[in-house]
Amino acid sequence: MSNDILTVKALRVNLSTGQIKEEIIDGELVKKYLGGRGLASKILLDEIDPSIDPLSQENKLIFANGLLTGTAVPTAGRYMVVTKGPLTGTIASSNSGGFFGAELRKAGWSLVIIEGKADKPVYISIRDSKVEIKDATHLWGKDTHKTTDMLLEEFGDDKARVACIGPAGERLVKFAAIINDKARAAGRTGVGAVMGSKNLKAIVVRGSERIEVLDKATFMEAIKSKVDIIRKNPITGEGLPKLGTKVLDSIINQSGLYPTKNFQFGTFEYTEEVNGEALVNKGYLKDNKACYACPIGCGRDVELPTGKKGEGPEYESGWAFGADCGVKDLIAVTEANFMCNELGLDTISAGTTIAAAMEMYEKGYIPKEDLENGPELNFGSSEAIIYYLKKIAYREGLGDKLAEGSYRFCESYGHPEISMTVKRQELPAYDPRGAQGHALEYATSNRGGCHVRGYMISPEILGVPQKLDPQTVEGKAGWVKIFQDLTAVIDSAGLCLFSSFALSADDYTELINAGTGFGLSTDEVLKIGERIWNLERYFNYKAGILPSEDRLPDRFKEPLPDGAQKGSFAHYEELLPEYYSARGWSRDGIIPQEKLKELEIA
Ligand code: SF4
Repeated sequence: MSNDILTVKALRVNLSTGQIKEEIIDGELVKKYLGGRGLASKILLDEIDPSIDPLSQENKLIFANGLLTGTAVPTAGRYMVVTKGPLTGTIASSNSGGFFGAELRKAGWSLVIIEGKADKPVYISIRDSKVEIKDATHLWGKDTHKTTDMLLEEFGDDKARVACIGPAGERLVKFAAIINDKARAAGRTGVGAVMGSKNLKAIVVRGSERIEVLDKATFMEAIKSKVDIIRKNPITGEGLPKLGTKVLDSIINQSGLYPTKNFQFGTFEYTEEVNGEALVNKGYLKDNKACYACPIGCGRDVELPTGKKGEGPEYESGWAFGADCGVKDLIAVTEANFMCNELGLDTISAGTTIAAAMEMYEKGYIPKEDLENGPELNFGSSEAIIYYLKKIAYREGLGDKLAEGSYRFCESYGHPEISMTVKRQELPAYDPRGAQGHALEYATSNRGGCHVRGYMISPEILGVPQKLDPQTVEGKAGWVKIFQDLTAVIDSAGLCLFSSFALSADDYTELINAGTGFGLSTDEVLKIGERIWNLERYFNYKAGILPSEDRLPDRFKEPLPDGAQKGSFAHYEELLPEYYSARGWSRDGIIPQEKLKELEIA
């Protein structure tokens, strides 16, 4: 079997020397880290000094398929980009769907490890085992859509898949994204800036091999049973296909944790103007879009009355330019989302950084002359979000400062407290005062402010797998640990986190075993997740990111001023000792040597 699931092949491309090498990853390592986020994090820790400058040539950029990516397992189209992140200085891992990862796996590659820096813009062309580094001078400066179209034509196969950066990545915007299939983003943590720092514009890939498994009948049976579960589940079988992730706008607003005007409020009075239902009722939604092998299809195929077409917005993106900037104009919000895809920007950090600038401006912390005749940065201004997005991507005027992310931006004006960030990454669309487990998850996330490292909104607000009181602190530390560990497994298997609304840890274990014959118990699978979580934290510790950074902005010590959870504030500091203890760390949040040894990390 030339492309069997257990033969994990890495392509090592050194852009400084032009050397291209094929490597087979040790099977024991695959069993310990699966693939994707886990395996790539292990390689990064082994191969770079965590204290390096993320935008130096010493950093490595790893495109990593999950263990099951490219198979018929439901949602198995995910890949990760792992590197040291320029926004946070932490380990960065950013996940994307679409079809790029599956195509790369069909070309025989589980990992592409990119080293060094090209002396001029290049792209990597992969046609099964034929790999070349090619000149990309003519693509430099182009947006992601133009780049994709030009590359597909040059490659001569419109079934090839492209992952690339736009102007934002070229200019090293600290929250630049890598965009694949024109609308899917490895968005968070600034992985696009690392790609830009290497003068790497794109990867284009076409694969022709099937992925073989040892016992096809058992594998297909497991797949069928999980597809059935996903189809019958009310969230994955109905809510997400019908309204996309924007099914959440009204739910989260009514629950009182829908961050509004840079997290100053927990409800947005114009939610019905911008929610998932509005996208349908206004006639903008044309169809659903699904990633590779996905029976859910949460993607939105949208056409605006202005004639502009594209995918999205997803819940987080729509919120970042909507409620968080106080904007009720769904057309502007959707256009801002399209622009992020074309310019190669992370929607959450872009919208939230503009929201922070709006609060700064309204409080008088930014002098008007700094706007250089641009629109005033007032909450509710559609004009401002569109204008400053472009300025950020091209680092022009105030955009150059905004391109550093909200923490560095607010700090440069002497007001870092206005930045709603954890470890310098902007927080997503849930006010942590409204869900205590989620607050702890934000504070302890290894890649900075993030909702998809242990989505506690699921039990605390949505009641999945069981309803927890969002304001209770008892038992939450243990829940957060399990959610974080299971998420690391899902990411490393190459599956979409949204499948976890329907599937359990036992289901993922069954799928992994059916594909690989590993014969793991669910506890052993969760141990893999724990190993990955600890390895990431160990990397951060070596990078100088200390437990003192397990904290939220001080705003969340103040009570929520409105909504269903008015008066609540974040109790994560009370939960930290219990969380550290549940993880087997010291009282100060340091991983002891015995724990590293137990998990076979160091
Ligand atoms: S649920 Fe949505 S994001 Fe996840 S794989 Fe399916 S279409 Fe892609």
